Amino acid sequence: MLDPALFVYAVPIIFAVTGGVMAANRGRNFLLWGFFSAFLPICIMIVWFEKPIKEVKGHFRKCSSCGEWIKWKETSCRYCAATQVSIT
Ligand SMILES: [Zn+2]
Repeated sequence: MLDPALFVYAVPIIFAVTGGVMAANRGRNFLLWGFFSAFLPICIMIVWFEKPIKEVKGHFRKCSSCGEWIKWKETSCRYCAATQVSIT
């Protein structure tokens, strides 16, 4: 049997990793957001809705036309429908 106390430690670690990775994907500090997400899982939601602070290869980039943040692989902007220059 697994020690139930294990989950007490495992859950914040899962929150920390989830929040940290999402923050990193948005160009933010992995450790800082991971730390806060462990204690305040609401931070994960905050990071989720936050706009990236810089382009992160493979995750987010700026629309070349209107400047809104779109997913890296999107070929056209969801805000202004401008076709994006494809980046590999
Ligand atoms: Zn656009």
